[in-house]
Amino acid sequence: MIRTDHHMHTKASTDSPADMEEIIKQAVSLGLTEICITDHVDFPLADDIRNWAVYSGAPVSSIMEWARYLGDGQTCELIRIPFDEYISNYKRLASTYEGDITVLMGCEIGMSYHCRGAIHAHIAKYPFDFIIGSQHSFDRYDICCNRETLFSGRSKQDVYTAHLTEMIQNVLDYDCFDVLGHIDYIIRYGPYEDRNMYAHEFDDLLTTLFKTLVEKGKGIELNTSGFRYGLGHAHPNIDILRKYREAGGEIITIGSDAHRPHDVGKYLPEAANILSGSGFKAYCKFKERKPTFINI
Ligand SMILES: [Zn+2]
Ligand SMILES: [Zn+2]
Repeated sequence: MIRTDHHMHTKASTDSPADMEEIIKQAVSLGLTEICITDHVDFPLADDIRNWAVYSGAPVSSIMEWARYLGDGQTCELIRIPFDEYISNYKRLASTYEGDITVLMGCEIGMSYHCRGAIHAHIAKYPFDFIIGSQHSFDRYDICCNRETLFSGRSKQDVYTAHLTEMIQNVLDYDCFDVLGHIDYIIRYGPYEDRNMYAHEFDDLLTTLFKTLVEKGKGIELNTSGFRYGLGHAHPNIDILRKYREAGGEIITIGSDAHRPHDVGKYLPEAANILSGSGFKAYCKFKERKPTFINI
């Protein structure tokens, strides 16, 4: 039985209202033994901030309050609270609940080629246990906030190929991550009749992606939020998971990607079944950036 959850957000992420202590209490009440908080670390373009404001309905001015312009004047740091304050709050709570649950500190970096330097510098400064690298964007646009720009008039093959191609480049360029997050995340937003990503449609790209990950000693995650989004499966789907196994992939973590307390630890029994059905004998936990394999 899986009792760990390695992907969740608190209100330090711009898309979550969750209090860190409420997240921890929920995990304890479910009998989880270990969780890893993985708030977003994104350095998007200023345009993305404005688009996010339109999408979320929040006033641009309040979003810009969180955004601190970096040196080049084009990128913004999207962290709602000062990071040192964030870490001391995390340490206080991890120690308060020590007897009930292990609470680790991770983060989910938004892998974009234009902000590699800023992300590497941020990761180097803090003692993260675990880092998820996620491709929430491509062509310099956040996918969720720029659907019209990215999908309009383009075929699924064209758009998903562009997304996967940039993902491969980022996996080659980035070292500061442990697992690649929700690989087929783009299917949440694709406006296609069948928006699923099938391994046979993107065979060469997925093979290259997985071989590169394996060569670099990195893994992937099984992100159960796909069920929450009504996709009927986790990210990535079983077809893609099998492809990863065929490429020699063994490192895989499990996370709910909860943005609210009641989503913590969701679909863990389903995750165990999916992994067994895709040829995995074990899943991974990370601490101090090192994996431990746990038999399913
Ligand atoms: Zn994500
Ligand atoms: Zn996430």
